[in-house]
Amino acid sequence: MSKRDYYEVLGVDRNADEKTLKSAYRKLAMKYHPDRNPDNAEAEDKFKEASEAYEVLSDAQKRQRYNQYGHEGMRRGQDFHDFGSVNDIFDIFGRQGGGGSIFEEFFGFGGGGGQRGQQGGERGKDLRIKLELSLEEIAEGVEKTLKYKRLTECDVCSGSGAKPGSGSSTCGTCGGQGRVQQVSRSVFGQFVNVTTCTTCNGMGKVVKDPCSKCHGEGRQKGDTTVKVSIPSGVSDGNYIPIPGKGHAGRFGGRTGDLIVVVAEKEHPVFIRDGDNVLYDLTISYPDAALGGEVEVPTLQGESILTIEPGTQPGTMLRMRDKGIQRLNSYGRGDQIVRVNVFVPTKLTSRERNTLKELSKSDNIAPSEAQKKEKGSKDFFDKVREVFS
Ligand SMILES: [Zn+2]
Ligand SMILES: [Zn+2]
Repeated sequence: MSKRDYYEVLGVDRNADEKTLKSAYRKLAMKYHPDRNPDNAEAEDKFKEASEAYEVLSDAQKRQRYNQYGHEGMRRGQDFHDFGSVNDIFDIFGRQGGGGSIFEEFFGFGGGGGQRGQQGGERGKDLRIKLELSLEEIAEGVEKTLKYKRLTECDVCSGSGAKPGSGSSTCGTCGGQGRVQQVSRSVFGQFVNVTTCTTCNGMGKVVKDPCSKCHGEGRQKGDTTVKVSIPSGVSDGNYIPIPGKGHAGRFGGRTGDLIVVVAEKEHPVFIRDGDNVLYDLTISYPDAALGGEVEVPTLQGESILTIEPGTQPGTMLRMRDKGIQRLNSYGRGDQIVRVNVFVPTKLTSRERNTLKELSKSDNIAPSEAQKKEKGSKDFFDKVREVFS
């Protein structure tokens, strides 16, 4: 099934402003909200479709990307976020407590008595898992199965915190509102401060008889298995958020996200340079002079590399498409091979005599002009110079 255009989903035109988007979304969300359409899969799909469209179009950056690349650009963007360092995660996800999602903005945190626990309670914390990947796995992309412990909804009380069948009563502190007003006076006048009720944690209801398994918290420790698909070409510090696989919230609050952070293992043989891999190859002096074929390791296994006769030390050879499959685009990088020539350190007398004999020959020593050639630049400089 092809995906509908986000503007079409919300029924707005392409230059709709923030206010228009918001009211279009609110209308659809009210109409299709799962609480108003129990067991109606079609309504649920519509609700999800509208929420997704609004989430993208209400974010200036995402909207721009969507306008430019369409759904393809968003799919990448939602599955995968790219940023420099692991420490940024908490800045970006700065939402330890409740706030942040469009859900809460529209439906209120614990507000409106009749609604189910979905909006009440306290949002569960995000969980962060470091996933170590080899360069081979990064080169092709990989599916990993993660097993970890987290807090999940209590299976006895289904997260409500109440002993099954015991029910709950309206909270006496907030009268079922889930919020309390605090009035303070100052020289500037009277201030009304509304906060979440601490007696019922915003639920508006208190449990009469707490669940004996979770002691009324609605959560329990449990093992979770999650499959995560890692795209090719990721680097250290990239992360993949998996919604709803973090810790369950207390008192029936929403579950946090799992954040899988990529850690690249150091490779024993290759050095990564973006989508390229660098490899140091050492050959014998006769092989360099005579040329021939050598076996070279690559991320995809052994491969044959042709050495031209007269290959100089420091020569860079490119093995096309033997690098890393690019992230967010097609094609792959190359393997760049630097050729080193091995100078023997231990010689038998026979080998020594042969070399002495050879050194008298005309073409063995460099000419005066060759001796004066400018020295070669650093490996990495040269790589950039040759292949950029
Ligand atoms: Zn329980
Ligand atoms: Zn209360």
